[in-house]
Amino acid sequence: MNPLMDKTVAIIVAAGKGQRAGGERAKQWCDLNGRPVIEWSIETFQTHAAIDDVIIVVGSDAPENFTPSGCRLASGGETRTQSVRNGLNAIEAPSDSTIVLIHDAARPGLTHTLIDDLLHALTSHVAAAPALPVQDALKRQQGTELASVSREALYRVQTPQAFRFGAITRALNAAEDDLVDDLAAVERQGTEVKLVKGSDRLHKITYPEDFDMVSRMMAPQLASPRIGKGFDVHAFEPGDHVILCGVKIPHPAKLKGHSDADAAWHALTDAILGAAALGDIGDHFPPSDDRWKDADSGLFLKEAQNLVSKRGYAIGNCDITVICEAPKVKPHREAMRQRTAELLGLPLDAISVKATTTEALGFTGRREGIAAEAVVTLVPTSGA
Ligand code: MG
Repeated sequence: MNPLMDKTVAIIVAAGKGQRAGGERAKQWCDLNGRPVIEWSIETFQTHAAIDDVIIVVGSDAPENFTPSGCRLASGGETRTQSVRNGLNAIEAPSDSTIVLIHDAARPGLTHTLIDDLLHALTSHVAAAPALPVQDALKRQQGTELASVSREALYRVQTPQAFRFGAITRALNAAEDDLVDDLAAVERQGTEVKLVKGSDRLHKITYPEDFDMVSRMMAPQLASPRIGKGFDVHAFEPGDHVILCGVKIPHPAKLKGHSDADAAWHALTDAILGAAALGDIGDHFPPSDDRWKDADSGLFLKEAQNLVSKRGYAIGNCDITVICEAPKVKPHREAMRQRTAELLGLPLDAISVKATTTEALGFTGRREGIAAEAVVTLVPTSGA
């Protein structure tokens, strides 16, 4: 616990039967995006720096193996209000100023930002809750007739609802057991409640169709695909072959360089690093480092792939253009594609190798060296 802050406890109420959601099991125990609904809220509370303790109030329908680490369990009561009282009673050594966040297990879309907003609200008030203005037109049915109801100053109130322990326990002790929510208890005491901005993400799962909607809102937002471009040049020096895309091509000269001077793979490596804004090949494999002397450029390419993979990206496809008068690249093109696909573990149709001349113009036209260009796409994997 932060010594400058009051003890802060989250109480998750999970004792409801949730029959309206249609399933045999209460909704908080059903799967949502790969884990039980309740676990999303537990994790959000437990990973928030201000939360000291998480208490879960469970009913008799809780799964037998439900023992979430780092949480304490309390027993549900006959009514929701009684369950909340049991949760409050389970707080260890509370003081009047202890902060309590009371949350419905069926609202998995809780965020740290909302917890921050509620805790901030409790610096000036003893009760706070997230709320959204009513946007739909409201009608009251009176017999066969409808009457319009003004939505001005009407709010939909969500959870967690945040209180100072003294305020909520006194209010609940004085309240009947028919409360629609915990705010209702303090309202009756004439307590001023601070409303903070709620969120559609916090929608309560009540009906079977709610699962789909909440699941979509909580799905990880995939990052956008990215594109990168690379360019490299190496000059000829005396020799008998060049290496392009890891393939040895006979030629009456070789490419000059610190490593194996594979201009095509250097361009591709730069394109991959560039797509993830991770600098360039010289940053990662400086020519001043003797480890890279005569190195196989496949090492650079593979390392670039590993680096972007750690950032949550996979290589989608790449397109390499080799620019020279000689050697003739076309006879080696398929071998170059295959070697590149094999090294990167990608399908052959993800790798394109093309070649062109510069019509005898410029340094490549004068047969002074070879240039290569590459473009690559990175696609986000689920972890991005
Ligand atoms: Mg190079």
